This record gives sequence, C-alpha cells and structure tokens, in this order.
Amino acid sequence: MGASLAHVSVDERLTRAQLAAAAAGLDALLITPGADLRYLTAYDAPPLERLTCLVLPADGKPTLLVPQLERPAAEASGIGAAVEIRDWPETVDPVELVAGLLPGARRVGLDNHMWAERVLRFRAALPGADQVLVGEILSNLRVRKSADEVAALREAGAAIDRVHARMAEWLRPGRTEREVGRDIADAITAEGHARVDFVTVASGPNGASPHHKTSDRVIEPGDPVVVDIGGTTPAGYCSDETRTYVVGEPPAGFAKAYDALLRAQLAACDHAGPGVPAESVDAAARDVLAEAGLGEYFVHRTGHGIGLETHEEPYIVAGNRAALEPGMAFSIEPGFYVPTRYGARIEDIVVVTADGIERLNRRPRELAVL
Ligand code: ZN
Ligand code: ZN
Repeated sequence: MGASLAHVSVDERLTRAQLAAAAAGLDALLITPGADLRYLTAYDAPPLERLTCLVLPADGKPTLLVPQLERPAAEASGIGAAVEIRDWPETVDPVELVAGLLPGARRVGLDNHMWAERVLRFRAALPGADQVLVGEILSNLRVRKSADEVAALREAGAAIDRVHARMAEWLRPGRTEREVGRDIADAITAEGHARVDFVTVASGPNGASPHHKTSDRVIEPGDPVVVDIGGTTPAGYCSDETRTYVVGEPPAGFAKAYDALLRAQLAACDHAGPGVPAESVDAAARDVLAEAGLGEYFVHRTGHGIGLETHEEPYIVAGNRAALEPGMAFSIEPGFYVPTRYGARIEDIVVVTADGIERLNRRPRELAVL
C-alpha cells in the first residue's frame, strides 16, 4: 500500500504550509518548538526560555530564528535548504527581530502550543497584526501521512510490538507495577525508541482507571493487567500499544467481557477504511460493547490520530463526521473499566490504505494468560 502514498520532502511541506497560509489570508506563520516545527523543518528544537521561532511568510523565504548557542544543533538537524537559519546574540531581543522580518503584516498565524508569554510579546511587537491560531491549517497538512511517515510509524509499531513480546519476562505476581514498569521502560529504549513517553501497568482494580500509570501495588495471582506503552523513535514518530494480560486464572466474568472487547476491536478495524466517517468507527466498537452490556464501562473515544505526537488528528469519536482518507494513522482502542474491579483495553495503531487499513501492531489480541 505504501506505493499509493507520495513522498513529501520537508521543503515541500514548507511550500504547502505557505500555500495554506496564503489561502487563509495570513501574511506569515510563527512556529515555536513542538511537533509543528519538527514537521515543517525536521528540527526537534528544545522548548527553551530563549526563543526559537520559524518565521514562515506566505510568500518569501522562511527564516528560522535560533539563539546563537543553539545554531550548531539547528544546523546539525537536517533543516531543508529552503530555510535560512539566523541566530540572535544573547543580549538582543529576538521578538524585535521577528517583528523586523514582518514589516506591514496585518494577520499572522501562531502555532496552537505557543507559550502565552510569547503570544503576548508578539502582540505587543506587532501591534498592527491580528493573531490567529493555525493548528487546524497545520493539522490538515499533518493528518495524511506520506509514505515515509507511514514507514516511520510502521517501525515504531514494530518496536513497541517487540516490547510487548517480552512481557512474560517481567509481569508476574509478587512484583509491583512500578518494578514491572521500570523493566518495560528500559526495553522501550532498548528496542529502538529514543524516548519513553508513557508506561501504564494497571493491575487488578487499578485497571479501572484508563490513565493509571504505575504504583507500588503488588500484582496478585489472577489479576488482569492493562499494559499501555509508547515511545518516540529517533525519527520523531510515536508508538502506542495496549494489551491486557492475566497472571493466572482471571476473575469471574472477566474472560467473557474480554471476548466482547476483542470482538469490538475487530469490528472497528473491519469497519475502518477510506471514505468511512471517523465517528462510525467509534460506533462499530461501541455497539458491540453495548450489546454485551458493557456500554457504560467504555468511557472514552475509540481512538486518536498519531504521528509526531501521540495524540493528534483524526479523533475517532462521536461527532467527528470527517471521512477517513488514505494515509491517516490512528489508534483503535476500545476498553471497559469496571470501578473497584478491573479494566481491559486492546489498542492497535492502524493506517488507512486505498481499500481498508493496515495494522501497524501485530501482537496477538486474544487474552494473554501469563
Ligand atoms: Zn495507548
Ligand atoms: Zn492510544
């Protein structure tokens, strides 16, 4: 399927962003460190108190303003030839330099995650310019992954699969969630990630909290354990995969509920594909759980987009009628959470192809008894 998606160079991304800015009536985009900056420049700039900012005019040459001492790192990051790197010395006001690059600007777009202090300083330095958020413009560019990005997500998916494949080494009664979590975190980097983003080891009643991380709870025989883990690869792409394990004999009723969950996850995966409204993928999973009497325990949306961020567009949730398109990557992760008792979730990352989806996680989905 990779052949059907185009390769898009970093410079081409900049050009597309400029066209989108012009179409939105913006004179320029101001982008500070974060996933948007990395997408547009390939530079994973640290979020420092010193200003780093891409000044991307709708028409003209992009300038990346960096603190003088960050220049070597910026140059080493593979920034495209289209971007001019300009450094600012320690005692110069970089906000004034940005303003100087935008004479007569009437409307500038800011990335959605810019620090508030910068928003206010840009407002003061550019009194004639309206500020608008451009998260949606950038997300429209980022939401359909190119062939290279899908390959990077595939690699991230395979890396986190290798961590789940080793779970029996670590997960057993008598150990605490935290001890298991530490082993998992070590493996996430050992198996090819540059960074650990999150480790959830939610045993027994802790499984009823979808975003439980780890605790000092000692895992007991018969506990269901929700293990949701993810990291970021050196290329910047994220992994995110959940499997639910049982150490010993599961509690009464759990296996039956898990069977419904598995059917829900398969139903959503079968339903997803190009042209399908995002919300109907959510409904496909939710209907199965509701029929099994578990609807009230499925307390979150079915999935989220993934790429340079773990959570990004598209969201697989009721109300999102947008049609899925080839290249969109997201999680399908139904779950059930029964307060004071247990929880379970099955999560795979998938990418939309020309005629369906490709799963980027391949570990078995049946209840894993360790
Ligand atoms: Zn997850
Ligand atoms: Zn997820």
